Amino acid sequence: MTQYPASNDGAISKLVQELNRLPGIGPKSAQRLAYYLLRAPEEQARQLAEAIVSVKQQIKLCPVCFNVTEAEPCSICRNEERDRSRLCIVEQPQDVLALEHTRAYRGLYHVLHGAISPTEGVTPDDIKVRELIERLKSSTVSEIILATNTNLEGEQTALFLKQLISPLGIKVTRLARGLPFGTELEYADDVTLSRAIEGRQEL
Ligand SMILES: [Zn+2]
Repeated sequence: MTQYPASNDGAISKLVQELNRLPGIGPKSAQRLAYYLLRAPEEQARQLAEAIVSVKQQIKLCPVCFNVTEAEPCSICRNEERDRSRLCIVEQPQDVLALEHTRAYRGLYHVLHGAISPTEGVTPDDIKVRELIERLKSSTVSEIILATNTNLEGEQTALFLKQLISPLGIKVTRLARGLPFGTELEYADDVTLSRAIEGRQEL
């Protein structure tokens, strides 16, 4: 395969550079995608560009649960049929998707947008912890389900939240141990995740 030097054209090299910044896209893949787009019909390239821009313009964070949404509040927070006595705490919006996909959980969510990590300098102030505590003050939640990842950061975050929430008199549970250590929720399969929710234990 011919390797084109990335510097042979300003526009192409800019595109390669931008694609290379995406997760999982190395320099080779970035180059392949850039030359694919160059050959693709203009309409296809335009649709891709528009989809990227509109996702940034239209998608906001729900002011209640901080999940990504086009409507405020999001469809889960607005849904009257959801169980408002349960609140599931997750790290990322993708985790909400994974849990929703199992259909094993019908409560509400709170998305932290990260996990506490002293090694990476992520403190409780950097994630949506203050917002969670504010939310709990004026809610009817009786159970908090800590569904952070089962890696070091996720476990640290779960313990931190447990210590913070317990004095409020709310029951705190953690996903069952069916999830192997190091699991990122978004990659867990439906069956494992459903079992983890159903088998959750008080922390
Ligand atoms: Zn919401």
